[in-house]
Amino acid sequence: MMVELAGVHKSFGALHVLKGIDLRVRQGEVTVVLGPSGSGKSTLLRVINHLEKIERGTVTVDGELLGYRRSGDRLYELPERDILRQRAGIGFVFQNFNLFPHLTVSQNIAEAPLSAQRRPRAEVAELTARLLDRVGLADKAAAYPRTLSGGQQQRVAIARALALEPKVVLFDEPTSALDPELVGEVLEVMKDLARSGTTMIVVTHELGFAREVADTVVFMDEGRIVERGPAAQVLDAPRHERTRAFIGKVL
Ligand code: ADP
Ligand code: MG
Repeated sequence: MMVELAGVHKSFGALHVLKGIDLRVRQGEVTVVLGPSGSGKSTLLRVINHLEKIERGTVTVDGELLGYRRSGDRLYELPERDILRQRAGIGFVFQNFNLFPHLTVSQNIAEAPLSAQRRPRAEVAELTARLLDRVGLADKAAAYPRTLSGGQQQRVAIARALALEPKVVLFDEPTSALDPELVGEVLEVMKDLARSGTTMIVVTHELGFAREVADTVVFMDEGRIVERGPAAQVLDAPRHERTRAFIGKVL
């Protein structure tokens, strides 16, 4: 099991956002998370990156407890440097790309391996070139993000997320901010990652992508996973009325 959430609860003040989430993602599997706006999908991803602390439950990535260490029956929060080390093993792709505007494409990708991992420059240059080639942007290495289309920027963001060779990559609605004609090129890169065995958790409304590459589809509503299963079952023969209503709306 690469990612495992057990009994995870998260509140913002009085607002109970995650209400006992259990989720298991095997190495090399793709899990697509569906659900209406406000159901807790982004919070779920942020919890897996320890960008949000949880009140109850545990998150485990590659067998290691995330954000905490266990001592007897109690959990103690890890020091910041351990959390940063854990976070380096988890790639995150945001809806709005979040590239560094003052850095070129290749500098965006090289930043973390150089500064966080202190890898040699020549090695990082090679890695950067390989990743840019992989997302089809070898000719944009020296360009600045603002000169790229949204689809190109998101492909750079994916390359950047891969630069630390993460154990799992989390995607939060990676195509929602794109013009419709640019969605396909980003989904193609994601499909390629999926085929090559990357463990992925993807929040998206792209049901075609889910049908094609997801091993498991999870439907969230009001902070709970109300339905989960193989893509064909959840998308084509949903058991719950709320899943059916949601899929009807998205299609
Ligand atoms: P989704 O991604 O499914 O749209 P979110 O996880 O973003 O849902 O949000 C779930 C609920 O938590 C929403 O009601 C949202 O307003 C609330 N929420 C998210 N982040 C915060 C925060 N930092 N502070 C307060 N409320 C938040
Ligand atoms: Mg969201």
